[in-house]
Amino acid sequence: MPRTKYGSEAERKAARVASTLRSQEKNAERHKAYMLRYSRKEYPRLRDAVVAKLGGKCQKCGYDSDRRALQIDHIDGNGRRERKTIGWRKFYGKILDDSTNYQLLCANCNYIKRYDNEEVYIVDERLKENTTMPFPNAGAVDTSTKEGVKGYLLARLATQQTTNVAANDHLKLDTVVAFRGSDITLDTTTAYVTTTGAASIGRFTLKAGKTYKLRAQVPYLLASGATGLLEAAFYDATAGAVISTGVGLAALVATTATHDIGGGLAEAIFTPTQDSLVELRFIVATAVTQIGTTANNRQPSVFIETI
Ligand SMILES: [Zn+2]
Repeated sequence: MPRTKYGSEAERKAARVASTLRSQEKNAERHKAYMLRYSRKEYPRLRDAVVAKLGGKCQKCGYDSDRRALQIDHIDGNGRRERKTIGWRKFYGKILDDSTNYQLLCANCNYIKRYDNEEVYIVDERLKENTTMPFPNAGAVDTSTKEGVKGYLLARLATQQTTNVAANDHLKLDTVVAFRGSDITLDTTTAYVTTTGAASIGRFTLKAGKTYKLRAQVPYLLASGATGLLEAAFYDATAGAVISTGVGLAALVATTATHDIGGGLAEAIFTPTQDSLVELRFIVATAVTQIGTTANNRQPSVFIETI
């Protein structure tokens, strides 16, 4: 290959390539600087045009006080992915051409929409709905298992009890008036039995490890003779024993056979070591014919709460 003063053909080719690369590099830097200047002006200009085209305010709540808090939302979702894929210039250009599938939302409404559509990872299912936040004691949420919030149950006899009114029988409570949580339940359906450990109407189930305060009253009693007497106490029907950390009640008929009288309050504090059936047991029952009456709401009742 002949040599010239400019060197060999290969050397000239290498020099040309190097020159092209240098110029491309320089151009690239210049191009980048140009695009930066351009986009600083162009981006707000295009965005303002899009915001104006989409109505200039949040389409949900009407917010329009600061355009920085207005976001362009793809009505069917995936707006952010689209902008990332095609770039903001094409994205905005596309909306200026045809805005059918887009709307303007403020940051708040957009975030709520993303929650509703499950486009965000939802830590707490309750945040899906605009309901009361799960603070303790919030009425909408059953917080009875949370610290400081009590479970309770108020039960009474619907009318009166005229059978099974002898000693070792128990109050056949059949009505739950009010309750909260699941730490206290009352059996209102099972057939009446007095068997130790067996399910029966009028027996509560209290849970192991919880501490309960129990209170009962018998405001009406009818007896067949002047010696009529009822004594009752809270009874652990699983263990088969009166709850020792309690006091019983006594109601007696003092004068005539048809005289009615009631009264007395039984109370107990109970911490079962196993899930336990609990009843109000008649310890002494002499000549008793009826317990409770609907006259003046004098049905016997039991109130139990966790403490
Ligand atoms: Zn809004």
